[in-house]
Amino acid sequence: MGAKILMIEDEQGIQLTVGDRLLAEGYEFETCPDGIAGEAIARNGDHDLILLDIMLPGKDGLAICKALRSSGITKPILMLTARGQVSDRVNGLKLGADDYLGKPFDMAELLARIEALLRRAEASAHAYDTGQDKASGELVIDLKRGYIANGTEEFPLSAQEIKLLDYFYRHADAIVSREELLNTVWGYDPEITTRTIDVHVARLRQKLGDVKDVPKYIHTVRGIGYKFTPPRA
Ligand code: CA
Repeated sequence: MGAKILMIEDEQGIQLTVGDRLLAEGYEFETCPDGIAGEAIARNGDHDLILLDIMLPGKDGLAICKALRSSGITKPILMLTARGQVSDRVNGLKLGADDYLGKPFDMAELLARIEALLRRAEASAHAYDTGQDKASGELVIDLKRGYIANGTEEFPLSAQEIKLLDYFYRHADAIVSREELLNTVWGYDPEITTRTIDVHVARLRQKLGDVKDVPKYIHTVRGIGYKFTPPRA
C-alpha cells in the first residue's frame, strides 16, 4: 500500500482533482472540507502526510498546524496557500509546516513535494529505529533511545537535542535558518536567542564527532543557519 494522505480542503474541485491523481499514483487518500473535523481526523488518524488548506470553515489551517505541532504530532504538513499570500507562507513555516505550495499549483509539483516530504519523514523514522550494531564503529544516531554512538563512545542526548536532530532529519539536506529553529524547535520562548541554538549545535557537533571547519553532518550556512546531512547507511 502507498502512503496515506489526508487533505483538509473545502474547495471540492481541488479535492477531486488531487484525490483522483493521488489514487492513480497508488496513494491512499482521505479528505475533509472542515477545519475542526479535519483537525480531529489528523490527530487520530494514521496518515503519513497532511495537505492543509489555510482558508477553511471552522478553523483555519494555520491554527490547525499550530495545534497539531504543539501536541507533539510531527507528521509532514504541506500547506496550500492562496497565490501571493507570502505572510501566510511565512507564518505556516513558523508554526511548523514542512513546506508550502501556492494555489493554483501544478499537479507534478505537488507530487514532487509530497514525495520529498515522505522521503524526509522516512529518514527521520530511520533515526528513531536504527537497529544498528553500536559496536560496528559506524556512527549511530538513535533518537528513540536518545543517544549517539561511534563504536567507542556513547553520548546521551538531551530532550532539546533530540528535538533539534529530529527537525534536522525532517529537513535533511535543506537550509534551515536560526529563526526557523527558534520558532519551531524552541517555540517562541523570549528567553531564547539564536546564540542558544549555536551552543546546542556546537554540543551536537561534538557528539557527532563533527569538526567545525570541515563538518560532515551539520554544516554552517553563513548568515542564515545550518544544513544537516544525515549519515548514510
Ligand atoms: Ca479554502
